Amino acid sequence: MSSGRDQIEPRVAATWVAERLRTHGHAAFFAGGCVRDRLLGLEPSDFDVVTDARPDRIRELFNNAVGVGESFGVMLVRRGGQAIEVATFRSDGAYEDGRRPVSVTYSDDRSDAARRDFTVNAIFEDPWTLELVDHFGGEADLRSGILRAVGVAADRFAEDHLRALRAVRFAARFDFEVEADTAAAIRACSGDLEGVSRERIGGEIRRMLMHRNRTRACELLEGFGLDVPVLQEPACDSGDRTALDALGAVDRPPMDALAAWVIDRHGEGDRQICDRLRDALLLSNHEHAALLDLFDVHRLILAEWRALGVAGRKRLAVRPGFKVALALAGVREPSLAAEIEEALESLRADGLAPTPFIDGNDLIEAGLTPGPRFKSILHAVYDAQLDGTLTDRSQALALARSLGADH
Ligand code: ATP
Ligand code: MG
Repeated sequence: MSSGRDQIEPRVAATWVAERLRTHGHAAFFAGGCVRDRLLGLEPSDFDVVTDARPDRIRELFNNAVGVGESFGVMLVRRGGQAIEVATFRSDGAYEDGRRPVSVTYSDDRSDAARRDFTVNAIFEDPWTLELVDHFGGEADLRSGILRAVGVAADRFAEDHLRALRAVRFAARFDFEVEADTAAAIRACSGDLEGVSRERIGGEIRRMLMHRNRTRACELLEGFGLDVPVLQEPACDSGDRTALDALGAVDRPPMDALAAWVIDRHGEGDRQICDRLRDALLLSNHEHAALLDLFDVHRLILAEWRALGVAGRKRLAVRPGFKVALALAGVREPSLAAEIEEALESLRADGLAPTPFIDGNDLIEAGLTPGPRFKSILHAVYDAQLDGTLTDRSQALALARSLGADH
C-alpha cells in the first residue's frame, strides 16, 4: 500500500476507497465516465465511486473526506495524491428552474442510474470483477455507438438544458449517433438554454472546440439549432466547415477553434464578434485578446501580405496567432498560403526576430533627448535591420542619429 505521500494511479486510489466501503458493509461501485471510458478502451481521466453509505458514514470511514456538494451527497476523499468523488446513491427531486433539483433523496443504485443523463453514463461497475450493473442498456448503446437519454428524453432535457450541450459534446467526442427521441428532445429545448449559466455554456463549448472532433460538434450544434443560444447570434446556414477542418484532427486551444468556427460562419471575424462572444461564452480578457489578434492577423494575411515589405512580413510572421491564422487563410486562398510558406523559408533564414542592434539607452548615449519619438526612431531602425539595409550596430546608430537630427 502507498505511503499516502507518493502519487498513486487514480484507479488504484478509487479501488482503495471502494474496498474500504465494502469491508464496512456498504455497496460500492465505479460510476459514470470512468466506466464508459474503460468500456471504450480509453484511459479514464478520473474515477467516481457510488455507494449506499450516507455522507456522515463516509466522513466516519475517511477522516479526510470533505463535502463538495454535501446537499447532493457528494464527498471528496483524498488518497495517494488523488481526489476521488464518492457519491451516495440518490434520486433527484423535482427540477424547478431547469438547472438543479430542488431536493434529493438518498436511494438505491437503480434510482441513481435513473437520474443520470445518458445510458452510456449510467453504468456501474464492480471495481474487482468488472461486472456491470447496467439498468438502462448503456453497454449495448456503447457498443452500437448510440447516445440515448435515460428515461423519457423530453422530460430529461426539460429538467436540465445543459444536457443538450453535454449530448453534443459526448456524441462528437465518441462519434456516436444521437438517438431519435433524444435528438427530438434536444431540438425542442434548443431555442433557449434557460437556466444554464453563461459560464457553464462557455465551459462546455471550450471542451468541444478543443477536441479533435470539433467539426462534428459544430455540425451537431448547428443541426440542433443550439448555435443560436450558444453564440447569441442568428442561425447560420453557410454549411462551410473548411476552416474547422483546416485545424486537423488534433487537440487545439479553444480560441483557435472558435476563430475557425466564426470564419466558417461569417468569412472573417471582427471586434464586434469578439465582444459578443465574450458575453456569450464568458471569455477571459486573455481569450478575448487572443481571438481578436487571430482575426486581425487573418485579415492582414489576406489583405496585405503581398503589399508588405520584408520588415512588415517579418513583424506579421512573429505575431502569436500567425501560424493558425495562416492555416485558416489558406482555406480561402490556397495559392497565397503556399506563396507565404515559401517566402517564410527565406525570411526565417535571415532571422524573423533578431535582437535589435540598438535600444533606448543607445539613443541616450548618442545624445538624443528621451521622449515619445524614441519609439518611432527605434521602430524605423529595427525595420531597416529586418529589411537587411543595416547589417551592424554602427550603421544602426548612424541611422538613429540622422533620424534624431531630422526631428
Ligand atoms: P467526462 O469524461 O467529460 O468528465 P463524465 O461522464 O465523467 O465525462 P461528468 O460531468 O464528470 O461527466 O459527470 C459524471 C457523471 O455524472 C456523468 O457520467 C453522469 O452520469 C452524471 N451527470 C453529470 N452531469 C449530469 C447532468 N447534467 N444530468 C444528469 N447526469 C449528469
Ligand atoms: Mg468526469
